[in-house]
Formats: sequence, C-alpha cells, structure tokens
Amino acid sequence: MSTQSYNAFSVVQAQFDRIAEMLELDAGTRSFLRIPMREYSFSIPVKMQDGHFEVFRGFRVQYNDARGPAKGGIRFHPLETLDSVRALAAAMTWKCAVADLPLGGGKGGVVCDPHNLTSGELESICRGWVRRIVRDIGPNQDVPAPDVMSTSQHMLWMLDEYETITGGRYPGAFTGKPVGMGGSLGRKEATGFGLVFTLREALKILGVKPEQTTAAVQGFGAVGQAAIEMYQQLGGTVTAVACWNQTDRTSYTFRRAGGIDATELHEITDRFGDIDKTLAEGRGYEVLPGDAWLEQDVDILIPAALENQITAENVARIPDRVRVIAEGANGPTSPEADTALAARNMYIIPDILGNAGGVTCSYFEQVQSNMNYYWQKDEVIGRLNVKMTSAFLDVADFAERKKLTMRDSAYVIAVDRVARACRDRGWV
Ligand code: NAD
Repeated sequence: MSTQSYNAFSVVQAQFDRIAEMLELDAGTRSFLRIPMREYSFSIPVKMQDGHFEVFRGFRVQYNDARGPAKGGIRFHPLETLDSVRALAAAMTWKCAVADLPLGGGKGGVVCDPHNLTSGELESICRGWVRRIVRDIGPNQDVPAPDVMSTSQHMLWMLDEYETITGGRYPGAFTGKPVGMGGSLGRKEATGFGLVFTLREALKILGVKPEQTTAAVQGFGAVGQAAIEMYQQLGGTVTAVACWNQTDRTSYTFRRAGGIDATELHEITDRFGDIDKTLAEGRGYEVLPGDAWLEQDVDILIPAALENQITAENVARIPDRVRVIAEGANGPTSPEADTALAARNMYIIPDILGNAGGVTCSYFEQVQSNMNYYWQKDEVIGRLNVKMTSAFLDVADFAERKKLTMRDSAYVIAVDRVARACRDRGWV
C-alpha cells in the first residue's frame, strides 16, 4: 500500500464507531457518517510519449459536505486504492470540522508513479482526471489540492482544464496553486507553523516555558522545517532531527546536544527533505539510527515524517521526561501506542488538530482566489495563528471538562459538528 495499510478504511470506521458511541449518535446518523456520501471511480486513457495508450485509474471521494464544499488533496501513487482514498477523505472531514472551517472532506487519487512518467504524460493525467469529474467539482462543490507526489504545477494544469471546459475563470476551484497564479503566500510554512502554535498553547497549559524546552523532530521536509523554524522563534532548542537517506535506503537521526542549526542543515538537504549524511558528519553532527529521535532526553517529540512511527514495539523507549507529542504527520501513532501513552498521561496534540494548519491555509487560498484579492504573508500567518489557537483551546477545554484525551476530544468535537450540520439540514 502507498502510505495506508490494506484495511485503512476499516480502521477509520472502527475509530468512528467508538466516537459515535461516546456521542450516543442515533442509528441513522451513524450509518450515514460511517461511509462516504459520494464516490467516483474512473478510467483516464493517456497517449504515452511512445504513442501507445495506457489507462490510469482515478478516484474522488466526497466523504461529507454538510459543512461546506468538500476539500482534500489528490494523491498520485502506484498503490493507491479506493479504500485508502476513503480513509483519507474521512480524516479530512474530521480535520476541517475540528479546525471549524466551513468545508467538508474529500480526497482523490490516481494509480500512477510520477517517477516513471514524462511531464507531458502527467499533464494528460491531470487534464484527464478533470474531464472525468468536471461536473461534480468546483469552488462551490469540491475543491481539490496537491498531496503525495502531486504538485502546484499539476493543480494549475487541472485548473486550466476546468476553466477551459466551463468557460470562465474560477481560481477557487483548486488550491495549492503556484504563488502568482492564485496560490497563497504562507502555504509552505502553514502546517509546521500551525503545529507550533498549538504546541505553544499546550506548553502554557502545562506551565512550561518554551525557551526552557528541547525537542526531537522526525522529518525535515515541509512540515518539519517550518515547525523547527517557529519553535526556535519561540526560544526552544531542537537537539535531534531524523530523516530518510535515499543512498543507504534507511533513515538516520542527526544529533547536536547544544542544538541543531536549521539554516546550516537546510543547505545540505535535498528537495525531498533528506539531509546529506556525510556533510552532516563533517559539520559535527552525531549520526544515530533512524529511530533514535524518539528516545532522546527531550521535553517534546514532533513526528513530522510518516504514519505509524510510534508503535507498540517502540513506545516504551520514549523517556519519561517527554511531556508533549505534537503530531505533524498524519497518523504517526498506532492505536496500541496511543493507549500506552494515554496510560502514561502523555500530552498528545493529535494529527487532525496539530496539522490542520495546512488545510486552514488552503481554505485561506480558496477565499483569496474567490475574491481575486491576495493577502500579504504576515496577514496569512496572523489569521492562521488565530484559527489554530482557537481550535486548540476548544479541544483542550472540552478534554478538560469531559476528562477525555486530546485525541478523543478532537474527534468528538469534529464528529459532533458534522452530525449537527447533517441534522440541521434535515438529512438525517
Ligand atoms: P515531505 O515529503 O516534505 O518531507 C518528508 C520528510 O520525512 C523528509 O525529511 C524525509 O526525509 C522524511 N522521511 C521520509 N521517510 C522517512 C523515514 N522512513 N524515516 C524518517 N524520516 C523519513 O513531507 P511533508 O509535507 O513535510 O509531510 C510530512 C507529514 O506531514 C506527512 O505525514 C504528511 O501527510 C503530513 N502532512 C503534511 C501537510 C503539508 O502541508 N505538507 C499537511 C498535513 C499533514
């Protein structure tokens, strides 16, 4: 599977059933919310560079749009399935709801491997994807965005196809567009900055000053780098960063006890977020195994690379000193590890809350595109700060009042908001 296990959607449904039970949702609402509202599965024929035709499978799942147009990325991956797209579309629904965005949740995909496709073939896939679904997407229906292996250039081709067919200019139909062509300033930093805005609030609750804390981070890509930048601005010290090494096909942790220099590391990092091991050693970084990041003697762990990184096998290696786990990645903690950490009273900022800064900024992009008026970066980040802080305080306050974990609190709030929207519309 791509980044989801085979039964990714069953896992999501089991999680939903547990929350529905806690909310005492009626049977009709439960049945309605545990499956997607709409699913599209289609073929995209593409004339390849050598002249032969190849047919690619495309998907779009609009999980629920009771709170607003569906929102979510389109993944390009050879192992994508309708089930993995369903699972991700459900997660987007809850994420948009917990961030209190006026959006529903969706996700799309194409079964393909961009590594083996020419730019022209990818353009044909993008345009073909839009042709299949043009009547059912748009600024008021469903707004796709880039995701795994899809880029801002792909979004621009999709938007161009959409506008060519519909005969107008609708920049709000897609987000993640290049800046200058309808993209938003601040999108690149939004997820990492948003995560640290929630971390800042968590530290306030715990009575800990950020400048007296240290952190270890897994991932030095878009999310990891921006999270480190904002955490360092708050005065925190990052002592270890883990990332992938394509040459050795393994991961490493780079440690410097006095604190890493993110600017220096950035200079020796490629576009995939992989730090050059030899150059890092040359600059005095200690090189440790890939999973050493989670056993560092730090106050904060920031998983910002992949799903399923903190598991039943390694959770006991997390030192007692760790106070907060701020989830930047999607699903970095397995359900078993989550239970073990809850028993240790670990303060977890769950992914659907912690990394909601990305979709929040996509929402800002859509608003700017619909107005055809674009904000300065400071304005984007300022609004992001307000949105993320208020979402965090809602979840923390509810968790405190109802004696729930932060994860359960986030899910209960999200599912409740979506269920109410469905009921208020008279759907269930
Ligand atoms: P990215 O591709 O920019 O960076 C990924 C980082 O993870 C790189 O530093 C890479 O070296 C590292 N990595 C990859 N495999 C690894 C491994 N086996 N062990 C250790 N490190 C490994 O990705 P990103 O955009 O920063 O996204 C990171 C996570 O955050 C993903 O789970 C993504 O779904 C999630 N997320 C991203 C956004 C966003 O706006 N980019 C929004 C929400 C959630």
